[in-house]
Amino acid sequence: MLFCAKCQVHACSGNGKPFPKGCPTAEGNFEELHSRYLEKGNLEMATVSGYLSTDYTNTRIEETMKFAEGCGFKKIGLAFCIALSEEAAVIERIFSYNGFETESVICKIGSPSKKEILGIENDKAPIMCNPIAQAEYLNKAKTDLNVVVGLCVGHDTLFIKYSQAPVSVLVVKDRVLAHNPLGGVYMCDNFMKNRFFPEKK
Ligand code: SF4
Repeated sequence: MLFCAKCQVHACSGNGKPFPKGCPTAEGNFEELHSRYLEKGNLEMATVSGYLSTDYTNTRIEETMKFAEGCGFKKIGLAFCIALSEEAAVIERIFSYNGFETESVICKIGSPSKKEILGIENDKAPIMCNPIAQAEYLNKAKTDLNVVVGLCVGHDTLFIKYSQAPVSVLVVKDRVLAHNPLGGVYMCDNFMKNRFFPEKK
């Protein structure tokens, strides 16, 4: 069983504390996994993000651009949700202005019918999202790095599944919390308590 989220020790961070019982760091064999960082592509990404993770001065957008630049990614694909079109336009403008070539694909590309494909009748929203097409269009455009901008839960999963280029998530959608799911985490003991920990019958 993997239980790192329940661990308060974090001895794996090198803090000198004893490893807890059953700790995967203490009991595992990581030689082969660690050797994968030396593979071409992985080494660049791990090195650049290693530097960025100790520099606390960059916004996420700046970090994304520095990551792309450091890895030699010139063409960035934006996979965005129609509900975040305005935000995607600004993000595209920022990337372009800073010298990246961009390709952008909206979630409704191809206009797939919810009724025909999923059998779901929804007059208000008859067109389903199309993350597989988003990924394949960016694959065809041969992007170096794909960036997710607010795709729905599950649509992001499908997009990542089909994306050939490595993926980074810039924006996560949260329809209630202004796209900030951690807002719920910080309120889990008060305003969100009944939602996240409903009384069990
Ligand atoms: S690897 Fe071990 S020490 Fe680190 S968080 Fe997981 S259980 Fe805790």
